[in-house]
Amino acid sequence: LPDRVLRAMERPMINHRGREMPRLLEEIISRLKVVFGTERARIALFPGSGAGAMEAAVVNTVSAGDRVLAFSCGFFGDLFADVVRAFGARVELVRVETGGAVTPEVVAARLASDSGGRVKAITLVHNETSTGVTCDVGAVAAEVRRLGHPALILVDMVSSLGSLEFLFDEWDVDVAVAGTQKGLMLPPGIAVVCVSERALASSERVTTPRRLYDWRPVFETLDAEGFLPTTPPTSLLFGLREALAMLVEEEGLAAVYKRHHRLAEAVRQALAALDVGIVCRDPARASDTVTAALTPPGVDANAVIRAGLERLNVEFGAGIAELNGRVFRIGHMGSLNDLETIAVVAGAELALALAGAPVRVGAGLAAAQCYLAERLSAAERDDDV
Ligand code: PLP
Repeated sequence: LPDRVLRAMERPMINHRGREMPRLLEEIISRLKVVFGTERARIALFPGSGAGAMEAAVVNTVSAGDRVLAFSCGFFGDLFADVVRAFGARVELVRVETGGAVTPEVVAARLASDSGGRVKAITLVHNETSTGVTCDVGAVAAEVRRLGHPALILVDMVSSLGSLEFLFDEWDVDVAVAGTQKGLMLPPGIAVVCVSERALASSERVTTPRRLYDWRPVFETLDAEGFLPTTPPTSLLFGLREALAMLVEEEGLAAVYKRHHRLAEAVRQALAALDVGIVCRDPARASDTVTAALTPPGVDANAVIRAGLERLNVEFGAGIAELNGRVFRIGHMGSLNDLETIAVVAGAELALALAGAPVRVGAGLAAAQCYLAERLSAAERDDDV
């Protein structure tokens, strides 16, 4: 969390139905549209987390008994399937092997057999946080539309919004969801949902019981009064306005995406130099927001995490579900710069060494620094960081 964002939140409350609120929401929503890559869609904000935003996507587009294909390559893709299942839809989970990505071919193979167009919706995860694999949502959506299939495309962007490029209108996505706590550089607390016209129309027809996550009152109240229908986490809205100004107005999204790619690549080069593998198998699909590193045989990944936390004050993410003990995850999303990334790389190799991994301490650091030196000087020459 940038200090600026924290400071922006340190303000007395305003009346959530008072004079300042409509302008605050209008500023936030217009900038969120830029981050989602949309001019046509609508943005709804709810109190809640990423899973809350997933629930909003589901209850407004899917009825009990509808057929839904949930494409997953990890824990959070499976979670999306669970959320849909909880509301009574007939969900088929299409699980790609861990380390792989959901591809247009995988999706086409399942949808092509549905010539009657009975599948109501498909779910995708743009960035699978448990494995560090990014889905080419644009290519998958293009394949769905090429097949002429009417399924709504619901996308989890929890660990990509504001860090990886997303083109909601151009890719013809129907619902994209996120929380504030990752690329938007805020504490958790707001569920953010981007809704196409098709999805909006669908919400009038679905029969799923819904209340807090019904997006219709959100749009009605915004249109009529400029407010949200329930009391929002107002402090977070102050922070969100600041964070979006930093991302959209100051650094610019193109530069933000390039920075994440550069820092992620530095981490990947460092791990390769240490001979530490990553879960993602296809380098073209490796995530620019999180890297899941595989500890060498016989080395407990949780011992690496403990060494980082207890000895170095650096916190790595644990391996989730079946990856626990084999994986530690390095987050490189949101507010992060080159020197901080170098520190994280140094921390990772020290923690690996402390946990007994046979790494050549310094090799990862040298690789990361050489890569960054090369990229930063190339950028200077081209005036293109
Ligand atoms: N989807 C993805 C890709 C995530 O990374 C997470 C959380 O890390 C979630 C969904 C769930 O979000 P939350 O924990 O905010 O409910």
